Amino acid sequence: MNLKEKIRVIPDFPEPGIRFKDITTLLKDGEAFKYAIDRMANFANERNADLIAGPEARGFVLAAPLAYSMGLGFVPIRKSGKLPGETVSVSYELEYGKDKLEIHRDAIQPGQRVIIADDLLATGGTIASTIKLVEELGGVVAGLAFMIELTYLPGREKLKDYDVLSLVQY
Ligand code: 5GP
Repeated sequence: MNLKEKIRVIPDFPEPGIRFKDITTLLKDGEAFKYAIDRMANFANERNADLIAGPEARGFVLAAPLAYSMGLGFVPIRKSGKLPGETVSVSYELEYGKDKLEIHRDAIQPGQRVIIADDLLATGGTIASTIKLVEELGGVVAGLAFMIELTYLPGREKLKDYDVLSLVQY
């Protein structure tokens, strides 16, 4: 299965000069979607995952079916102010200004092995914040699974202490 040919590249979105990797064309292809999740499940299985976490919004689309397919729980990581219970949060830099990601304080028990899934690894800023939240709760980051990795950006360098899977590279 060639996943790369299922991904659509849209020039100048969301800004001029950016070539956006659109995974909706892959997601609507049932066979490709299943193949992608199955590969992530293999990776997670080999690392004895207890839980799957993912940042909103596109991380949910991968992390939730991954968790379901393995019979594991899913933990959402959300933008500031969306989670109803007591949260732990981390601020991260955006191109312009700052944003916050949050997790429920009771979402992970110390020592639980967590696989984090997201659609795309670019600079690694989003995933670094997600890792911080999981580790602050005492979770062990057992691996990071991405649909896409932009290898011309230093994301993987930032993540050198972690096991990284990416299904498609640009
Ligand atoms: P990073 O924090 O690694 O620089 O950026 C990764 C985040 O930005 C991911 O959560 C991803 O959803 C989003 N992102 C950035 N560029 C793209 C893109 O070209 N395609 C998609 N689908 N997501 C992107």
